[in-house]
This record gives sequence, C-alpha cells and structure tokens, in this order.
Amino acid sequence: MTSTPALVINTSNAPIVKSAIERRAVGSKDVRVAIAYSGICHSDVHQARSEWGSDIFPMVPGHEIVGHVVEVGSGVTKFKVGQAVGVGVFVNSCRECDACKSNLESYCEKGPVGAYNGHDYNGEVQYGGYSKEIVTDEHFVVSIADGVDLAECAPLLCAGITVYSPLKHWKAGPGKKVAILGMGGLGHLAVKFAVAMGAEVTVLGHSLSKKADALAFGATDYRSTSDEQTFVDLAKKFDFILNTTSADIPVDGLLSLIKFDGALVFVGLPVESQSFNVFGLTGQRRSISGSQVGGQMEVQEMLDFAAEHKIGASIELLDATDPATIDQAWNRVVNADVRYRFVIDASTI
Ligand SMILES: [Zn+2]
Ligand SMILES: [Zn+2]
Repeated sequence: MTSTPALVINTSNAPIVKSAIERRAVGSKDVRVAIAYSGICHSDVHQARSEWGSDIFPMVPGHEIVGHVVEVGSGVTKFKVGQAVGVGVFVNSCRECDACKSNLESYCEKGPVGAYNGHDYNGEVQYGGYSKEIVTDEHFVVSIADGVDLAECAPLLCAGITVYSPLKHWKAGPGKKVAILGMGGLGHLAVKFAVAMGAEVTVLGHSLSKKADALAFGATDYRSTSDEQTFVDLAKKFDFILNTTSADIPVDGLLSLIKFDGALVFVGLPVESQSFNVFGLTGQRRSISGSQVGGQMEVQEMLDFAAEHKIGASIELLDATDPATIDQAWNRVVNADVRYRFVIDASTI
C-alpha cells in the first residue's frame, strides 16, 4: 500500500478537504499513474451529495483521469514508465460475460466497477481521480498520443466517450443530420465529435446564449426549443437527436423533428420519468434509446480520433490549493455556469 494526497468528502454533503488515501500495491497487471489532471463530472456532485443513493464515505470522486505511468507490474504488456495515459469511468469488469467478451465492459452483466464510490469484486473500496496517484489494472488504462494537451483531454474520459459512443452507434457521418440537445459539458464535445465525423450538426438549446460558441465548434445551426417556430422549421429533419441534458424535455416535440427510422437518444440523466405519446414513434418507426460510456476498445478509439482531429474539451482549469475552490466549482456545475468543463490541476492537491 502507498499513501497519496487526495481531495476527500467525509460524509454526504460535507465540504471537500485535503487528506490522504491508501492505494493498493502494484499487482502483476497493474499500472501506477501519477495523476496530472482530473476532470469534474456532474455525477461527482450527485454522488458526493447522495442524490443517487447508496454512497460510500469517505469518498474521493473523479473518473476523468489523465497522467503518466510511474510503475508497471511484472505482467503489464501495454504500458511503459513515462507514457501519458488515461483512466475513465470503470476500472474493472467480470471479463467473462457476453458484454465483456464483446469489448463492451461498460455494459458488463455482473456490473462494471466504477472508478469511485464502489467496491471491486474483492471488496476493495475504489477512490477516484481527485488525488495524486491511482493504481489500475492495465485493461482499464488507455494511452494518450504524444502532443495532446492533457488538461483538455481529461474530460474525454467520461464526457467524451459518453457522446462519442452513441454518435458512432447511430452512425453520425457524411450525409447525416444530427441534433445535439443541450450544449454543456457533454453537448459541446458532442458537437465537436459529430462535426469531425462529417455530420451536419444543429444544436438545440433552451436559449440562444451559446450560439456563437456552437458555430465556432462547427455546428451549422442553433435553435431555441423555447421558440415554437423551431418545431415547424425543423420537422422531420434529423437522423437522430442526442439528448445531453439532465432536464425534463418535450419528448413529443423532439420526436416530431426526427426522420423516418430515426432515434431520440438519451445520454443525459433526468431524475424524473419522461413520458411520450406512442403515436410519435409508430407513425415514422422512430425509436427512443439510451447509451452510456463505451467499452475500453472504444475509449481508446475515441482518444485516438480526438488526437487526430485535435479535439479537446473547452475547460476552466482549477487550482485546488484551497479545496473550497472545488466546492464552488461544483455549485457552478449544478447551475450550468461553466464553459464547458472544469479540470483540477492535480499538482495543487
Ligand atoms: Zn462522468
Ligand atoms: Zn462482464
């Protein structure tokens, strides 16, 4: 075991404090990573404030982790000391179920092990990326190409793969018209990835306040869902709509914007149940679906694609010297007051 400094939440809703946690000794398949940057995901706030239930305290959040390899176990084949790497939302899976065998570890039937606020199958409590070091099985470590800005890369490990995976699955590309609903941490990356894939991208926001940014990211149109005319002008226009918001949405109105055989895909997580009129599906054989982060092979593919197309998150870098700064950033995340993702400089932890 080794001790490493971390930002810790000791009980539900407690302020973030500086402390230390133990990381396991490096096993034969493990990689020890010196963390450079850790992104802040809205799910960090939900879990530290016990908004999703069954939380484990003390908690060290963070599942958007980038840094450099400082030690490898004797059986590690993919990584060497000094290499830039990432660790994302999951750090273990059963490796035996159909999902795991299909490189879809994030959909493991036994339940994948989260980077924090969970237990590994042997009972080990998992602590996340708001710390200076992490020890992870190499299967759940991904490599980052030379020259990539690591701070801007960090949010790709959760937000990036959360949107990349459905964009690939629903075949965003040349000739496809895609709408991104909401342009926050997830949505702004969805716009960048969908544009790089060659799709024609429209952003649907509840106001027009982010229009200039969306157009700068490569979107060709930006419409307000508060404007009735939007639903007239864009009727049956899109191959699919990716909903990146966690708010209640006008499902029937959005379905009316989707072409024959198209889909409304949820990656944002509204707390309340969403309802819809089934006629909105049957008349045009539309689907409503959901998606989450991809498996490890796809996380690597996403990082390589991002490096090739120079895609990083638009970020605000945080100094954690005073940990209250992170609490304040969380409040801004809750208020959607960040363009577009916070990243903690781990050297200040
Ligand atoms: Zn996340
Ligand atoms: Zn499995």
